Formats: sequence, C-alpha cells, structure tokens
Amino acid sequence: MTPRRGERPPVPEPLPVPVVDAHTHLDACGAKDSADVSTMVDRAASVGVDRVITVADDLASARWAAEASTWDSRVFAAVAVHPTRTASFTDADKAEVERLAREPRVVAVGETGLDYYWDYSPPEAQHEAFRWHIDLAKRVGKPLMIHDRDAHDDILRILTEEGSPEKVVFHCFSGDLGYARQCVERGYLLSFAGPVTFRNAAPLREAAAFVPRDQLLVETDAPFLTPHPFRGRPNEPYCAAYTLREIAALRGDDVAELAGAVSTTADRFFRLRSVTSDLTNGEKLR
Ligand SMILES: [Zn+2]
Ligand SMILES: [Zn+2]
Repeated sequence: MTPRRGERPPVPEPLPVPVVDAHTHLDACGAKDSADVSTMVDRAASVGVDRVITVADDLASARWAAEASTWDSRVFAAVAVHPTRTASFTDADKAEVERLAREPRVVAVGETGLDYYWDYSPPEAQHEAFRWHIDLAKRVGKPLMIHDRDAHDDILRILTEEGSPEKVVFHCFSGDLGYARQCVERGYLLSFAGPVTFRNAAPLREAAAFVPRDQLLVETDAPFLTPHPFRGRPNEPYCAAYTLREIAALRGDDVAELAGAVSTTADRFFRLRSVTSDLTNGEKLR
C-alpha cells in the first residue's frame, strides 16, 4: 500500500444526524492502545461519526480488533484473513479466526473475498479461503463483509455456488450500475468509501445514486482512500462525514435523512444496539 503523506484533512462541519463508519482499520491508522482508540473515535464523534467497525486483515490484526472493540462502546470489530494474505492459511489460523468471530463485539466476518489486483496470493488459495469464510459467516450467524477488487464475476459465482449467508455487505463497493443492480437484487448491502467522491468515478457515482437507501452504508476504509479533495492524505473515521455528504449530494438526498437511514441500516444489519446493550454491564466500556 502507498504510504499516506501530509497532514490529516481538516475536521468537517458536524453531520446533523450521526452515522456509523462501517469499515475502517484503526490499527493501520496508527492506534495501538485504548487511549489512541478513544482519541480517534472522539474525533469522529465530534463530527457525527458516532460508531466505527474496525476490520482485521490478518490474524494479529484480528486479535487486536477484537480486543479494541472491548475498550470503547463505540467500537465494533470484524475479523477474517484478507484475500491477499491467504497464500498460507492453516487449520490453526482458521480455528483462531473462528474463535474470534464468535466474540460478542465482533459483528461481521470480514474482510474476505477476492483480490485480483495485487499478486500476493494465488487465486486458488483466495477461492478456498473465501469459501471457508462464507461458511464461517453462516456458522456464526454474522454478516459476511466482502472485499472485491477486480473480481466481480468470481465473487458472485462463488457466492451462488456456496449459497449466500443471510447478510452480505460489499465493503468499498467498486462496481458500476449493472453490478450494483445484481447485488441489490440479491439483497446485499453496498458500502461506499472515498472513491465515490472522486470526480473520475462516474460509474461508481451512478451506482451510489441507484442503491436503495436501506441497502446503503458509508465507510472510510481508513487510512486508505481519503475522500476528495484530500486524496493521498491520511484518512480516519471522521472523514466518513465528507463521504456521506457527497453521497447525499449526488443522490439529491437530504443529509440528515440519509445519515439517519444509514445509521438505521447499520444498526439493523450488524445488530449494533443489541451488542451494546448485551455488554454494558460489568465491562470496562465507556
Ligand atoms: Zn478491502
Ligand atoms: Zn479494508
């Protein structure tokens, strides 16, 4: 990944209604301990990004994400081994991912899927790992969070062959209107990151304008994919406010209404409220 350079983008005007950053990597943003996590989530909350899902891409990151989700009630986790890290994915690794996926504040199995852009893991290894994660999502009864880079056809084919879990979200959706239509018809959620704000992303913007409000999420995928006009600078969950505003503008939606809808969808899909209420007793949560 390209190192991020320069200063963080300015903190935007607060959203009128809070949203959830449905996919971020707090560890890759530089957070190490609970104080770092609180600082980042405070900054996000100050602009109306009131909760975040921090996502793992390897086993060390999965252990960290699961633990970080117990440090602050505004943080939830998703765990999996990223498709680019699947060249070696042992039975012991799988057992540990499964154990972590069952933790109460781990709200999704992800990110998993296929990545044909980077050449780090052979396609066969990626396919096998993706199939395993699909089955895991079903076994633990949690949403499947998909990473799809240049692999649209194989993603849909494998989901069909395996049978989709009940809940599927495409993180950093990167398809056009036709692909969005297929995903929406299958009942999947589409989560949009910084690229939807890029001026040269007309097909993606068309897709974001089309997605029904109750199948749409917003995310940062921080520290990557910083929204326009701050491309290349370090991204953080608070920048989801920029992306949410841009999506509202391109759809012709009221910002407060869209933010409210996105929050409701995230709550329902990831069961965030029931997770929070399950754990507020006796946990060291804020
Ligand atoms: Zn991804
Ligand atoms: Zn990611």
